[in-house]
Amino acid sequence: MVVGEMPERADVVIVGAGPGGYHAALEAAAAGRSVILVDRDGDAGVGGVCLREGCIPSKALLQLAAAARGADLRSEMGLPAHDGSVDFARFRAWKDGIVTRLGDAVRDRLRRAGVEVVAGTARLRDARTMRVETPEGPSFLYEFDAAILATGSRAIELPALSGDPRVIHASGVFELDELPERAAIVGGGYIGVELGTALAKLGVRVTIVEAGARILPTFDASAASDVATGLRKLGVELRTGAAVTGLGDRGLMLGDEAITADLVISAVGRRPASDSLGLDAAGIVPLPSGHVPTDARRLATPRIAAIGDLAPGPGLAHKATADAEAAVAALVGNPHPGEQQIPLVIFSDPEVAAVGLDRHSAEELGYRVEERVTPVAAAGKSWILGETTGRHRRIVDADSGLLLGAVLTGTHATELIGEYALALEAGLLADDLALTIHPHPTLSELATLSFAP
Ligand code: NAD
Repeated sequence: MVVGEMPERADVVIVGAGPGGYHAALEAAAAGRSVILVDRDGDAGVGGVCLREGCIPSKALLQLAAAARGADLRSEMGLPAHDGSVDFARFRAWKDGIVTRLGDAVRDRLRRAGVEVVAGTARLRDARTMRVETPEGPSFLYEFDAAILATGSRAIELPALSGDPRVIHASGVFELDELPERAAIVGGGYIGVELGTALAKLGVRVTIVEAGARILPTFDASAASDVATGLRKLGVELRTGAAVTGLGDRGLMLGDEAITADLVISAVGRRPASDSLGLDAAGIVPLPSGHVPTDARRLATPRIAAIGDLAPGPGLAHKATADAEAAVAALVGNPHPGEQQIPLVIFSDPEVAAVGLDRHSAEELGYRVEERVTPVAAAGKSWILGETTGRHRRIVDADSGLLLGAVLTGTHATELIGEYALALEAGLLADDLALTIHPHPTLSELATLSFAP
């Protein structure tokens, strides 16, 4: 690299090494391009928030919680009872081992693909050059043919809670030395629901405070109601339509009322990290939401793409990965299939997962909807798992029999939704799925069974 104002040239400069950025780097390298991948944390940043403090640690925590909660079934099956105690330090070591292993695997793939990972903070200087400030001080200029912005998002701070040491964001939960007795979670969205589920199963007394009229306000209402029932069964108190006014001596304040809590977890959404990218230098004007406006192929300008949480759409790792593929295809001139189905998954108890249209959106589009419903308990396997709650709903066009979408509630819904995503991508009829032979005894058989609603 050359220090100073003489720019180094790279075919593709990518900013941010999360699931969007690193996937874009691998794709661009596979297309024969020279690639610089810039991340504030350099090699250690590979995997991004998802790997280090989001998707992976939270699912590790949920796995711990499921194992601890499995105590009831253990004794029913004839295993010795477990007292439910958890060594959180050992959990963290286990979780860190998973994060390191997965990160190393990606770092290895990047190295073998010839991607240069650079530690630094990148900012557009103009539509063709990126300035990268390194942690050591010197800055570098890269002249690029194409740039892909993949800096993700940051947790939104609630002014009423900011600056108080009793308040942490979700990522702080995985670094605790021990679990609190009582926790208040502000925000009943994806994070609030998943963390609330895990902590309640680990014996924490949890209250979820949600501003909207219901938890998961953007998710299918019926599935969200199943999740609310599940949370209440775990002892979680749900306060919806509630306005947090601040913190008092007794805990979280909702006006005059105090929600007693040793720990407050703020999970009120995330905002795209678009403010320090120098977008104006390239003539890009972010949307009021902070997202970078793009076309369907994720191009913000003919040479600059924005992907993942930075671009409009759901803030999901698999959406970021899909964006990366669309963006690289557009920038290197490769074909791409275009708009794709994005499954939505929540690792609650029961799990929920959806893809395609739900009943409401299908009806709004003018379809005459037939809903085919199967209770999870109809699968023999669910009884062996001790997880019989939930139902699988297929949304079908009554006139053509075409599958329009699926909303699944229940154990392993987050795994089973993949089959429906494939069916929608392939344009299958609902009967195509039902007539496919599925192995017995598995939960996948639920796709073949249909009960009157
Ligand atoms: P979210 O947008 O899912 O939920 C935020 C919730 O906070 C909303 O229900 C909102 O109504 C509520 N809220 C906003 N202001 C509030 C206030 N002042 N008081 C009380 N409630 C308030 O965001 P999140 O849960 O923070 O998750 C962040 C991102 O992470 C999302 O984009 C989500 O897609 C992603 N995520 C995905 C998964 C998954 O795919 N399973 C899991 C966790 C997180």
